[in-house]
Amino acid sequence: MTGPHTEPGTAAQRPASLGVTELTRAVTELELVPYHAPQDAEAPAQDLERRARELGLESLVVRARLITADVRARMGDNAALGRVAHQALIWANARGDVEVQVRCQRLLSAFYGRLGDTATSLEHAVRAVELLPASAPAPLRVRHYMGLAVALMLARSFDAARDRFAVTLSMLDERDDPDVRVAVLNNLAYLELTAGDTGAAMRAADQMRAVGQRHGITMDAVYLDTIARAQIGAGRFAAVELTLAPILESDDGCTEPHDLAEALLTLAESQRLAGALDQALGSVRRALHESRRRGIESFVVRGLREHAAVLAARGSYAEAYEQLLAFHTAHEAVQSAERQARARTLHAAFATEEAVQQSRRYREMSLRDPLTGLYNRRYIDDRLPALLDHSRQRFGHLSVAIIDLDHFKRVNDEVSHDAGDKVLARLATLLEAAVGGDGSFVARLGGEEFLLVLHADSATAARVCQQLCDTIRAKDWSDLVGTMPITASVGVATTFAGGDAAIALLSTADRNLYRSKANGRDRVTA
Ligand code: GH3
Ligand code: MG
Ligand code: MG
Repeated sequence: MTGPHTEPGTAAQRPASLGVTELTRAVTELELVPYHAPQDAEAPAQDLERRARELGLESLVVRARLITADVRARMGDNAALGRVAHQALIWANARGDVEVQVRCQRLLSAFYGRLGDTATSLEHAVRAVELLPASAPAPLRVRHYMGLAVALMLARSFDAARDRFAVTLSMLDERDDPDVRVAVLNNLAYLELTAGDTGAAMRAADQMRAVGQRHGITMDAVYLDTIARAQIGAGRFAAVELTLAPILESDDGCTEPHDLAEALLTLAESQRLAGALDQALGSVRRALHESRRRGIESFVVRGLREHAAVLAARGSYAEAYEQLLAFHTAHEAVQSAERQARARTLHAAFATEEAVQQSRRYREMSLRDPLTGLYNRRYIDDRLPALLDHSRQRFGHLSVAIIDLDHFKRVNDEVSHDAGDKVLARLATLLEAAVGGDGSFVARLGGEEFLLVLHADSATAARVCQQLCDTIRAKDWSDLVGTMPITASVGVATTFAGGDAAIALLSTADRNLYRSKANGRDRVTA
């Protein structure tokens, strides 16, 4: 056999640890969901979620689930994104998992942005940038800064948004990220148009087109419309029709209906401002026809307003007035429909039975230790005080036992950390079998320390723990650790009516554990 020699222990360990690294890298890459064809990321995200679950990597499970929700939101299901990101944030906050917090904040910003709630969107975008660790990969940093810039722009904080766009552009390496650079320049041009700086808008639009040409990026309808609007602002009316030609003349069926309606409206405005009123009338009527035929109400509204403007420019004031009234009515109807849609989305995100159940599941998950599936320290801190009150009233006593493996460091040092993990997981199963179904339970305090909470008096608790020590010692661990013995030391403490508070009870148990260790280990002190 050729190839490098490997220790048996290391060889067994390697595939698992390599799997984790690869999986983390795959999730991190997929989080940069492309702007075009986001749906391509859905199946890989679900595959990564499954693989992360198999390895017990909760944080990666949640991140993969967020990718799927991000993709679905871009395809139209924004409510699901609100629900998933909101619950994941609760989970991440409970764990102090910054990686997940950062991603939730960015996605929640996008969720509220789509809903039209610019203030909340901005709040989340600010948090997303604040929380971003300095070590975050560059493409992720770029997206966070761009998200903040867009949120600032939508909240009409134009100067702050300009600053953020400038930072984003300076972070971008054009060779590696021309797509993102084009997207940023498009947003910047749109910002300048909204802010009324037509010169700056034209400069950004020209740069966007130049980057696109250098890197063979097709200008899609959204980009072309931005360029055309910048040209209108700069008074370059003659160029507008040429810019929009790919959309107006597309007969390959690829143009989205609302892209065509939008291009026709932009063209009509340009023709009107250039004084070509007959052509403007033709374009706006075509835009209205397309929008009505396809039932795109928001473009009907814009069409009616432009129609009124063209008619007024021609001196047909009575007709213009009619169109303005129609615009007003349609505008109110669309706004009311949008308000209802927003309420429905918020309800679907946060108030349905499914959402509430998911929230419970995430809370429960945040109280569990990922390695062993046992309750964690947080659960103990939350639950023990109330449990003490309750069981004092019902049973008069409650016992706790801290179980600590003896010389556990040796397992890690002399066998492997992976074997150590497996010992801990197997011990957890053993401990769970030892507690009855009377509300007694096990938790992992941390490391190789576990806590039993027993509805039992001191003598019963000591007996249960002694049996446990015997079981641990007698169990066959050889498949994991070879000939190394596995034993545990235990410290028990019991509270009687009116007895100790939770903290005092735990510290008594801890003192007793110390005695067990000092007296030679593999024993119980009650
Ligand atoms: P003692 O009998 O005095 O308790 O000795 P010990 O070696 O068990 O105690 P110590 O507290 O010095 O070391 C505990 C070790 O447990 C340190 C660390 O290597 C190991 N450990 C803690 N958490 C984990 C874990 O999640 N997985 C693995 N494999 N090892 C862990
Ligand atoms: Mg210890
Ligand atoms: Mg120990």
